[in-house]
Amino acid sequence: MLLREKVCVITGAASPRGIGKATARLFAEHGGRVVILDLDAGQAEAAAGDVGAGHLGLACNVTDKAACQDAAREILARFGRIDVLVNNAGITQPLKIMDIEAANYEAVTDVNLRGTLYMSQAVIPAMRAQRSGSIVCMSSVSAQRGGGIFGGPHYSAAKGGVLGLQKAMARELGPDGIRVNSVTPGLIQTDITGGKLTDDLKVEIAKGIPLGRLGVADDVANACLFLSCDLSAYVTGAVVDVNGGMLIH
Ligand code: NAD
Repeated sequence: MLLREKVCVITGAASPRGIGKATARLFAEHGGRVVILDLDAGQAEAAAGDVGAGHLGLACNVTDKAACQDAAREILARFGRIDVLVNNAGITQPLKIMDIEAANYEAVTDVNLRGTLYMSQAVIPAMRAQRSGSIVCMSSVSAQRGGGIFGGPHYSAAKGGVLGLQKAMARELGPDGIRVNSVTPGLIQTDITGGKLTDDLKVEIAKGIPLGRLGVADDVANACLFLSCDLSAYVTGAVVDVNGGMLIH
């Protein structure tokens, strides 16, 4: 029970096979009170129900600052505190550099980077008042190696931006007792790839991974648990690779 009575907010956690939902399930198993934020209220509520009784699902588009602040207000009204935020909501697009239009750039940087900023801003006042908190940001191996496999250059840029934002927040918020870390997953089998991950492609990709397999959502959830609980009490500004050795640096 590593998160007993901790209020844990996870964005983009309604997707059934996603990293956010796996993280929500694991946090609940460890005694956390989980709040699932996602675009659709019904899906967020259903996902919270799947995780178990006493958890909360709310609609929140992380690109909308007012929506993030409303969500934080509602969580504080219900539970009185916010201990953990996992900035997990993200989208990708498999585009080449010359095919990126303004709308592509805006969509991808807005959800991944602006969303991380707005949702963090929404919870920081409560964490500051508590003088404790842990924020986990979801970057990607794509930020580190210049592309994962499915994301275009705008996705790499957004996820690189997440790392800069996370490290700057860690530096600024450390004196308030708030830790801020990132996870950089490799290729994880979720629905973000939109069905483009065929069995043949999986075999091909696994050949380049020292641990010999693609990742699963629970692999990333386990890293989020470590960074969210007191096992990582002296860890801030860190980036944890969860990529099976796809990138060793
Ligand atoms: P997913 O598509 O299964 O889940 C993403 C969730 O984000 C969905 O539930 C979606 O509704 C939600 N979302 C999208 N836009 C939103 C918005 N504006 N506001 C709130 N919620 C929004 O994807 P996943 O693979 O579980 O990805 C989770 C995170 O992990 C993302 O940030 C992704 O970039 C990152 N990541 C994934 C992989 C991978 O291989 N799957 C690798 C590296 C990083």
